[in-house]
Amino acid sequence: METQEILLIKNGELALKGLNRGTFEDILMKNIRRRLRGAGEFSLRKAQSTLYIEPKDDAADLEEACERISRVFGISAFSRALRVEKEMAAILASAGDYLREQLEGAHTFKVDARRSDKAFPLTSPQICAAVGERLLNQFPHLRVDVHRPERLVMVEIRDFGAYIHAAQLPGAGGMPVGTGGRAALLISGGIDSPVAGYMMAKRGIELTAVHFASPPYTSERAEEKVVSLLREVAGYAGSIEMRTVPFTHIQEDIRRHCPEELFTILMRRYMMRIASQVARQENCAALITGESVGQVASQTLPALACTEDAASLPVLRPLIGMDKEEIIVISRRIGTFDISIQPYEDCCTVFTPRHPRTRPRMEQVVEAEQALDGDALIAEAMSGIRRRTVG
Ligand code: ATP
Ligand code: MG
Repeated sequence: METQEILLIKNGELALKGLNRGTFEDILMKNIRRRLRGAGEFSLRKAQSTLYIEPKDDAADLEEACERISRVFGISAFSRALRVEKEMAAILASAGDYLREQLEGAHTFKVDARRSDKAFPLTSPQICAAVGERLLNQFPHLRVDVHRPERLVMVEIRDFGAYIHAAQLPGAGGMPVGTGGRAALLISGGIDSPVAGYMMAKRGIELTAVHFASPPYTSERAEEKVVSLLREVAGYAGSIEMRTVPFTHIQEDIRRHCPEELFTILMRRYMMRIASQVARQENCAALITGESVGQVASQTLPALACTEDAASLPVLRPLIGMDKEEIIVISRRIGTFDISIQPYEDCCTVFTPRHPRTRPRMEQVVEAEQALDGDALIAEAMSGIRRRTVG
């Protein structure tokens, strides 16, 4: 057996909770397989409640695979490990070189050994002692600290070989995408909605994206910005079907026929109606928005009630109780922030009223809508939808 670097995901590192484990693992394996596409050929197998991800040849990019795996939901931690022959000589010969960089930069370390193959001649404490001694010889500046070591050296004796690795790498947590069904993410070019999509995908929900565009008020570039945002979200959520809805006529008609102070709320109600229809066509069980209480005039409780009234599916608002600063921390971490702050007009900003109502009354809103031919406007928007796949 040749010495090879691989990725290990152990059972304790899977976020299994209350779900059928078999289904959970099957979906996770499928997601991993898809996400590794383009990083080279890897073989995936499950044994001893561990997932083994092994490069099939030298062209497989393990660095890139690590990057991608760290964004797959359903994995709370994973390890990059060296697989060697199940013999003490091989383990002793490789451990120091494999972990050289980490050990040279530390003062203290500890060896931890696990032996799931009980036929191995040494016990776990014996393995620890032998490897520890070898590392102390190889790196004389190191000391052993069993309580608070700076570096951990793990040696695992398993069915197919011995595995050497350092401390685990953090995974993305959450549930595998697809275990929670599908929902439609209303995505603008702003900071909030991509974060909202990320958060629901983390709970296992697959995303279909709905974007409202108002050309010529909004540009081609504004739409490309949304595509760039979705590409980042897709790094976590898997590939995303995007539906772009032409929204210009609806906005123009609202402006022509309705009181200015209600523009935003009426616009948002049309978004909810159309998104609900798109969602049903695409087998989505809910809508997702980036709304957060009090952030803008259209996100007061009375305004949210008016918006929600127009939706015919549950509206999930994962950011509802978060501060802008908290949302920005996540958007930076997932790589959407720098894209979100690019200055392209959104359909909402184009038609912002000077004095929006923060406490719209339903009767007033419904009355204002009488001036519009709602069914015709919605039918026209639905027939103009453009489709593309992102990620
Ligand atoms: P964001 O940062 O996500 O744009 P926001 O704080 O700017 O949110 P609004 O612009 O009022 O708030 O939008 C609230 C929510 O409505 C957004 O989070 C998004 O889910 C949805 N939304 C707004 N504009 C659009 C659009 N052009 N297309 C699709 N959904 C939109
Ligand atoms: Mg916005």
